[in-house]
Amino acid sequence: MEVLETEDKIGSRLQAWRERVDATKSQDFYFYNQPVEELCGGARVRTQGREMLMFASYSYLGLIGHPKINAAAKAAVDKYGTGTHGVRMLAGTLRLHTELEETIAQFKGTDAAITFSSGYATNLAVIAALVGRHDVVICDKLNHASIVDGCVLSGAEFVRFRHNDMADLERCLQKAGPRTAKLVVVDAVFSMDGDIIDLPHTVELCRKYGAWLMVDEAHSLGVLGTTGRGIEEHFGLEGVIDVKMGTLSKTIPSVGGYIAGSHDLVNMLRHFARAYIFSAALPPAQAAAAKAAIEVMLDEPERVASLTANAARFRRGLKQRGFNIMKTETAIVPVLCGADDRAFTMVRHCQYEDIFVLPVISPAVPEGLARLRATVTAAHTPDEIDQALEVFERAGKKAGII
Ligand code: PMP
Repeated sequence: MEVLETEDKIGSRLQAWRERVDATKSQDFYFYNQPVEELCGGARVRTQGREMLMFASYSYLGLIGHPKINAAAKAAVDKYGTGTHGVRMLAGTLRLHTELEETIAQFKGTDAAITFSSGYATNLAVIAALVGRHDVVICDKLNHASIVDGCVLSGAEFVRFRHNDMADLERCLQKAGPRTAKLVVVDAVFSMDGDIIDLPHTVELCRKYGAWLMVDEAHSLGVLGTTGRGIEEHFGLEGVIDVKMGTLSKTIPSVGGYIAGSHDLVNMLRHFARAYIFSAALPPAQAAAAKAAIEVMLDEPERVASLTANAARFRRGLKQRGFNIMKTETAIVPVLCGADDRAFTMVRHCQYEDIFVLPVISPAVPEGLARLRATVTAAHTPDEIDQALEVFERAGKKAGII
């Protein structure tokens, strides 16, 4: 058979990635997928053979490893085993799944809820189920990648407004026209910047222009509102969001995603959302853990207050030391470094002093805005936060950031 002379474009892409990774490793700046070896209690973890203070955790209320949650997961394995019998409608629905969904609906103050096997899959499936060709989906420019991917998958016209800019959102809504189905999707708390969407104005505009509103609460559940119920509680605007999305992988130490909303919404998704219909149900241990975690949140409300105080202490300490922490108001605290190398140097030094923190670089954030994305949890003590602040100060000076 004749072999044609061609260019191996895919091979070249792989090679480019190998070269990028090798170059970073050769400078000892490679922090990707660092294994955590053990939880050591509180906010401490063992990694690279050393105990470090964790400042990169999503377990905002410090619930990971909670004995009640662990016990619920173990009991579920004993009762149901480690998997389900497949997808939900084919013998995959356990009593545990329906109990979890009822618990989520109650916690979020909605008629009903539906769960998916990841937060990513939830955004993909739900946006693609709600809008399609001839519709418009409107997003904040800094929305999470899973929302962006859901919008692209949906086939709807995909429009983005400037970050948290309500005048720009209004322009997008006007442009879409009164007869087009419109879905506005925003993050409650932006995952790389830690700031909060202007919910009151977003709601007002959605009502004025007849758009549906979907809010991703990945980083607001357990974080915002005095009882951790999220962004509606934070603004005192209960019930204004049409589609309440959240993950079970952050404050709730499990895996999965959910939508809470009206009976009609949940009913439609159960029959039409492809990631629900064509993907296996949540494993029993994870469903049980998620349900137990919500119960612990209700039983131990003081965790939310500790998180709020810890996050404020950490933000204040960084600002006082001259760091630029952007517009964060939450437990996600970006520490702006600028060039990638500066962020890497800062992380190297923090880890050298046993503070586990990680860098975020392009394309996750714009070029030149590399940062440390530190997170605070309820598991930190005030002393541990002060200790980390001292390390950050030394590292910031070494990296030439402050
Ligand atoms: N939305 C946001 C805002 C997120 O930050 C994430 C995860 N980082 C997801 C959705 C996806 O959730 P999961 O990790 O549960 O798939």
